[in-house]
Amino acid sequence: MSAQVRTRFAPSPTGYLHLGNARTALFNWLYARHCNGSFILRIEDTDTLRSSPAFETAIMEDLRWLGLEWDEGPDAPGQAGPYRQSERLRFYSSYAQWLVRHEAAYPCWCTKERLAELKASQIKAGVAPRYDNRCREAGPQGGVSGAMPVIRFKTPHRPVRFIDEVHGALTFEAGAYGDFVIIGSDGVAAYNFAVVVDDALMGITHVIRGDDHLSNTPRQIMLFQALGFGVPVYAHVPLVLGTDKAPLSKRDDAASIFTLRDAGYLPEAVINSIARLGWTPVGGGGDGLIELAALAGSFDLKRLSRSASVFDMARLKVFNKAAIAAADVSRLASLAGYPTDVVDVAEVIAAVRANAATVADLKGLISPFIDELTLTAEAAECLAQSQAKAVIKAFLDEAAKAASLDEAAYEGIIKAVKIATGEKGRRLFMPIRCGLTGMTEGIELAKIPGLLGRKKVMDRLGRFVG
Ligand code: GLU
Repeated sequence: MSAQVRTRFAPSPTGYLHLGNARTALFNWLYARHCNGSFILRIEDTDTLRSSPAFETAIMEDLRWLGLEWDEGPDAPGQAGPYRQSERLRFYSSYAQWLVRHEAAYPCWCTKERLAELKASQIKAGVAPRYDNRCREAGPQGGVSGAMPVIRFKTPHRPVRFIDEVHGALTFEAGAYGDFVIIGSDGVAAYNFAVVVDDALMGITHVIRGDDHLSNTPRQIMLFQALGFGVPVYAHVPLVLGTDKAPLSKRDDAASIFTLRDAGYLPEAVINSIARLGWTPVGGGGDGLIELAALAGSFDLKRLSRSASVFDMARLKVFNKAAIAAADVSRLASLAGYPTDVVDVAEVIAAVRANAATVADLKGLISPFIDELTLTAEAAECLAQSQAKAVIKAFLDEAAKAASLDEAAYEGIIKAVKIATGEKGRRLFMPIRCGLTGMTEGIELAKIPGLLGRKKVMDRLGRFVG
């Protein structure tokens, strides 16, 4: 492979994409784009019990929704495929055999019972449990005939040192690791081995991932070296925490991209909020929306933070409001489920969008103008008040006389209604608002009659005085 930068996102399809993993995908995507390199999607599905194709599809959909397209992946074949680990088992077994032939790995026949006893006795003696290398020295004699052996890696007795782009120079002591399993007795590669073979064969130059993987890295580096491959650059990003300061997890439903999308957040808002988790654009970036291409332009591993970041829902809302304010009206109409080519819808969106923090809010704000009038329970209650009918009647009379119902005309109309009925405050405004929109809340009342238009104003209010 050339010196071109190649990054990868390697999700296990065992759940929906959550904010923490989406951020890992984003940072890998940004770095690849920043360097004019390639971004690879690899599906780590060797855990057949927990992996499912449905999660794989959902993760891919969420990545696409976020705008994080990959150059190579299960559905975008490249030279380094296949891109699902379940389809790469032959590579793992041939590299394991190569290590065995070069005496860097060996079969181990130790039974589960023996390993459990060993672990218990080590714990009792107060030493860290690790394999005692019996089969390294004794060979197959220690085994049970007929059983399939595991393959263990001969851990070299030297410290592992590397420079992490986030954490700086790190050293892991020699002997911290026992001879670990690289191929299980079922023939399936262990996680650390599969990752190394894949990262090497896929020409990955930079591994950017959560620092929950930091403890795997020394084992992976030892494997790269034993296989004669170059070691990629590592950047372990501190985890994303929820407001309860616990790491966000796949089981944390509210933190999934799918849930946010469903709740009416726009991808550019989600991108901006996760981009700021552990990375600061030059100049801070403030709360302004930055486009993906611009984020990629300024992305720099050196600006990644060493401390964990807390996902802030309030900040996401700020970004989402900004995204709704900036989005095309026709896009918003279609997201809210309204026809995109209707002038009324466009006008309503233009008038209400500033009040919407999510697409769900937007839907609620558009509906009273476009859909049939329906009353909420509070609105019905308000319209049942003793003064409501008189206020509405006066409003209708004044509206009929007025040349226009726009914001400026409304001021004159409401003044006249106030004088005619002697009502003020909520008792004056609420019946009109509820009669016009069926709701006690919404955009400024002064804007509502003009937006609805004369016919709807007269029809709707007319129903309450008949
Ligand atoms: N499959 C791993 C995960 O979902 C990622 C492995 C890696 O990035 O090295 O956590």
